[in-house]
Amino acid sequence: MSDVAAYAAQSADADLAKTHIHRHAPAANEVAIDIEFCGVCHSDLHTARDDWGGTKYPCVPGHEIVGRVVAVGERVSKFQPGQRVGVGCMVDSCQSCSSCDAGLEQYCETGMTGTYNGSLPGGGYTFGGYSKHIVVREEFVLSISDKLDPAAAAPLLCAGITTWSPLRHWGVKAGDKVGVVGLGGLGHMAVKLAAAMGAEVTLFTTSPGKAEDARTLGASRVVISKDREQMKAVRGELDFILNTVAAPHKLDPYLMALSLDGVMVMVGLPDEAHPAPGMGPLIMKRRSLAGSLIGGIRETQEMLDFCAEHGIHSDIEMIRMDEINTAYERMLKSDVKYRFVIDLATLG
Ligand code: NAP
Ligand code: ZN
Repeated sequence: MSDVAAYAAQSADADLAKTHIHRHAPAANEVAIDIEFCGVCHSDLHTARDDWGGTKYPCVPGHEIVGRVVAVGERVSKFQPGQRVGVGCMVDSCQSCSSCDAGLEQYCETGMTGTYNGSLPGGGYTFGGYSKHIVVREEFVLSISDKLDPAAAAPLLCAGITTWSPLRHWGVKAGDKVGVVGLGGLGHMAVKLAAAMGAEVTLFTTSPGKAEDARTLGASRVVISKDREQMKAVRGELDFILNTVAAPHKLDPYLMALSLDGVMVMVGLPDEAHPAPGMGPLIMKRRSLAGSLIGGIRETQEMLDFCAEHGIHSDIEMIRMDEINTAYERMLKSDVKYRFVIDLATLG
C-alpha cells in the first residue's frame, strides 16, 4: 500500500493539479505497473469537466496507459516484473455474462469498471493513468510488443481500439470505401487503421489545414465538411462511415454520403445531443445509424499486435504533466496533432 503522485480535477470547473492518491498492493490476481506514458483522450476532458454527469471528485483521468510491471500477485501467470504492458479504458467486469464470454467486456451485463470514475464493489471509485502507478487485475492488462514505441503506442489503448473495433465488427475490407469524420485522436487512428486494412479512405474535416496531414496518414480524399458543394459531390459513395466528432452537428449530410445499405457508426459522444437526423436519408437507401463503445480485451490485443506488425503508431505530441490544462484548451479548439501523450516522468 502506498500513496503515489497523481493529477486530479477537484471539481468540474477546477484546473487539474497535483495531488496524491492511494494505490493498494497487488492482490493474487493483480499486476502493479509503474506508468511511463498516458495518452490524453477527449473523454478525459468530458469526465474531468462533468460534461456527461456523474463524475466523482477528485477525478484522476487517463485510460491510455503504458508502463512496466513492477510486481505481480501469486496467481498471475501472463506477466512478470520488467515487462512492458498497457491498460485501456476498463479494469474489471463480471467475467461470466454472455458479453464477457464473447470477449466483449465493454458491454458486460452488470457493467464494466472504467479505468477512472468507475465504481468499486466495496465503495470508492477508480483513479486513472494521470498518476505514477496503477494496480490492475491480470485479465485487463495488455502486452505491448518491443516493436512498438511505448509513448506512441499509448493512444492505441483507447483511440486505437475504439476505431479498430467497429471497423472489424462491420467487416471493413480491402477496396471498401470508408469515411472518417473528424481528424482528432480517434479520427487519425481510424484513417491509419482503415487504410492499413486496404480501404479507400475519405476524411471529412472542419479544418482545411489538416488536409495534407490526412493524405499522409492514408486518406485518398479529403472533404471540407463545411463546404456544401464538396459534401454534395460525395453523395451515395461510401460503404461505411466512422464519426468521431466530439461536438453536436447535423448527421444528415453524412448519412447522405452513404451508398445503399451503408452504415454510419458514431463513436464521438458530445455533451449535448446531435440534431435528430431525418428519416428520409435512412429510408431511401436502407442506410443504418449505429454506435460502438471502445472494444473488448481480446480484440484490443489483436489490434496492438496488428499495429506492431504493420508499424502503426499514433502521431503524438509529448507533454509534461503540468501542461495538461493547456492541452485540454487546445483539444477544445481541435488543435492537436494528433494525440497528446503525458510523460509521467515529469510528474515527479
Ligand atoms: P479529439 O482529439 O478532440 O478529436 C475530435 C475531432 O472532432 C476534432 O479534432 C475535430 O476534427 C472534430 N470536431 C471538433 N469539434 C467539432 C465541431 N464543432 N464540428 C465538427 N467537428 C468537430 O477527440 P477524440 O479523443 O478523438 O474523441 C472524440 C470523441 O469520441 C469524444 O466525444 C470522446 O469522448 C469520444 N470517445 C468515444 C469512445 C467510444 O468508445 N465510443 C472512446 C473514446 C472517445 P476536425 O478538425 O478534423 O474537424
Ligand atoms: Zn478514450
